[in-house]
Amino acid sequence: MDNTRKIVYLDHAATTPVDPVVKETMLPYFDEVFGNPSSLNGPGQRAREAVESAREEVASLIGARPEEIIFTSGGTESDNAALKGVALARHREGNHIVTTAVEHHAVLESCRFLEKNGFSVTYLPVDADGIVDPDDVKKALTDKTIIVSVMHANNEVGTIQPIDAIAKIVRPRGIYLHTDAVQSLGHIPVAVHELGVDLLSASGHKFYGPKGVGIIFIRKGAKFASFLHGGDQERRRRASTHNVPGIVGFAKALEIAVAGMNEEAEKITRLRDRLIAGIRERISDVRLNGHPERRLPGNVNCSIAYVEGESLLLNLDMEGIACSTGSACTSSSLEPSHVLSAMGLPPELSHGSLRFSLGRNTAAEEIDYVLAVLPSIVEKLRAISPLYKKKVKAQ
Ligand code: PLP
Repeated sequence: MDNTRKIVYLDHAATTPVDPVVKETMLPYFDEVFGNPSSLNGPGQRAREAVESAREEVASLIGARPEEIIFTSGGTESDNAALKGVALARHREGNHIVTTAVEHHAVLESCRFLEKNGFSVTYLPVDADGIVDPDDVKKALTDKTIIVSVMHANNEVGTIQPIDAIAKIVRPRGIYLHTDAVQSLGHIPVAVHELGVDLLSASGHKFYGPKGVGIIFIRKGAKFASFLHGGDQERRRRASTHNVPGIVGFAKALEIAVAGMNEEAEKITRLRDRLIAGIRERISDVRLNGHPERRLPGNVNCSIAYVEGESLLLNLDMEGIACSTGSACTSSSLEPSHVLSAMGLPPELSHGSLRFSLGRNTAAEEIDYVLAVLPSIVEKLRAISPLYKKKVKAQ
């Protein structure tokens, strides 16, 4: 294998490389400032200062108070904590949860777990663009509903949900609103009070920070039960020694992402639209998945009829292009994407889906390279597809 070949990396929704400035900022916290933030000695206190200043930075960047931020091990933990933590804390008030059919598995599987433990869950449908209707949220609420969880932006198709409109329906009834902002934080504006949420999850590795570190925002006064018991860290809401380099890296990465957000989003959107237009021009029977405007700047998800997404992905990989067929977490399963199915795509179109996710360093030449390579791969695969041959014959 040629390891020196430059890879065209278009899988930023799965993960991003750590920004070099972030890496530099983290380095001293592996050995120079290595104390335990819970230790009262000097080295411990220096580490504690770093954690607290990261907390203040993160809080101010999302419009929260420092004490409303808990550092976690990533998006999965934050989603689990939001749902299970509120379910545990509010189970005497009600046992009903509302979520959507297109959430990340970290939310969906937490809901399934809670269903096995006495809770009932309503999974709301979405329209063909992947949007949840706030009116459907309203209709689903009962006097037993304790939390509604709707993701800010979808990881597969990039659709951005009307969280603020949902908040206006949910919160006056004393029901908590959680949003999974793992894909949106650092890419589009995220301000907890504008969104109107009580809980929010995010993860560092999606915006050029390190893996294995995330946050959960919990609005002051919201009821929440910890499910990690042990030490007194994070005001007894999450035991375990702090991941100091990770926390410092998270804050730095967010600071950089927010500072460059407008410029970056503009550049990435331009390249995204060039990729979409180029695919449509060069390949027949293609469908763009997700909302045409209300979508993340870097997301292109398309279904190419008469081909398998996996075959496309492997052929592109051989040409040095890294993309994905859906979410990286479920890419080993042969089930069609639950997101595309919820949007009404028939299984045969779901199976022909590709997700390109562009990033900060994506260049126009890389998009042009994809546009030069992809049509011939599609043509090659369609040439051996019995369904495609049948279609051509029928024309
Ligand atoms: N939620 C969404 C929307 C995601 O895209 C992901 C990761 O892909 C997660 C949650 C899980 O985050 P993490 O990888 O930090 O556990």
